[in-house]
Amino acid sequence: MNDNQVRIGVIGVGHLGQHHVKHYKTLDNVELIGVFDTDRQRSLEISKKFDVKVFADLNSILNEVDALSIVTNTKNHYEVAEKCLRSKKHVFIEKPITAEIEEADKLLSIAEKNKVLIQVGHIERLNPALLALNEYEIKPKFIEIQRLAPYTSRGTDVPVVIDKMIHDIDILLSLVRSPIKKIQATGLSILTDSIDIAHARMRFENGTVASVMSSRIARDEIRKIKIFQKDLYATLDLLIGSTEIYEVVNDKISKSKVTIPFEYKGNTRLIGYHKPVLSKIDPLKMELENFVFSIQGKQEPIVSGRDGRDALEFAMKIQEMIILDKH
Ligand code: NAD
Repeated sequence: MNDNQVRIGVIGVGHLGQHHVKHYKTLDNVELIGVFDTDRQRSLEISKKFDVKVFADLNSILNEVDALSIVTNTKNHYEVAEKCLRSKKHVFIEKPITAEIEEADKLLSIAEKNKVLIQVGHIERLNPALLALNEYEIKPKFIEIQRLAPYTSRGTDVPVVIDKMIHDIDILLSLVRSPIKKIQATGLSILTDSIDIAHARMRFENGTVASVMSSRIARDEIRKIKIFQKDLYATLDLLIGSTEIYEVVNDKISKSKVTIPFEYKGNTRLIGYHKPVLSKIDPLKMELENFVFSIQGKQEPIVSGRDGRDALEFAMKIQEMIILDKH
């Protein structure tokens, strides 16, 4: 290890945890100390594949690291993170931060007391299709989001709102930046005991309205966002990686290569169409890099523990509305 390296461990090396291991292995400012998974067989597989040390329990890895990625099943985030934070270790917790809001609040307070960082893996914030919006002035009036996925048993330890819709709630909160005023929500259980399909309509205090649909019972995967605002319409495909902007422009000299005339009240105006070239970043690698730089005081966390907690609170409200709607 050199002075610029942060010593990191990965807890939980299932489907997603293996990718944390893969990326940490490539970061110059990280010394990957090892992994721990309650499934010993899985730990050994990952150890062999990535040439990392396996620890027999959480306590023994805690003694050797500065920071940890927590990539266990959501229900176990709290018990693992609490131990790490009490040992004064920085944590990157995969989304959702915890399964319950009280747990998230406790973690934030332990982290603050122990002066360590919590970062949350709301990876969609780094989706290149969303990052492309940074070039535009986005003040949404209406947002429609759809996130559909074929069924897999992973993630079914929590309802679809907490597993999938929370990605879009975090995106919404980052785009709208206004407190929520009203929520209407409905949902259904199809294959599991909890909610598999959910729809929420939300009104924010600044007047923005959002309609969000999430399902884990779909034939095809779909992740789309449509944003409408005065003189602008943006359509994003987070899955294939595409952002298209239709914007009213004053003349042909604009970044739009294509302009479409339209008539309104006797005047001819122009709609400019542009499809920005998206960056080629790997969102997971970039968020882990951001975590390490944040520990080193070189960057601010892109998704803080507070952001993760706020997205969870919002998701919980939607989940409660769905339960009320069913009675
Ligand atoms: P998974 O079931 O494939 O892996 C979870 C692993 O954690 C398993 O190997 C399990 O043995 C291990 N584990 C469980 N409890 C543990 C404990 N107390 N200590 C150590 N190991 C433990 O699940 P996954 O799909 O990899 O999801 C893991 C987390 O990542 C979930 O919280 C999920 O919501 C999140 N996730 C986020 C995204 C994203 O887009 N950011 C995508 C997928 C999953």
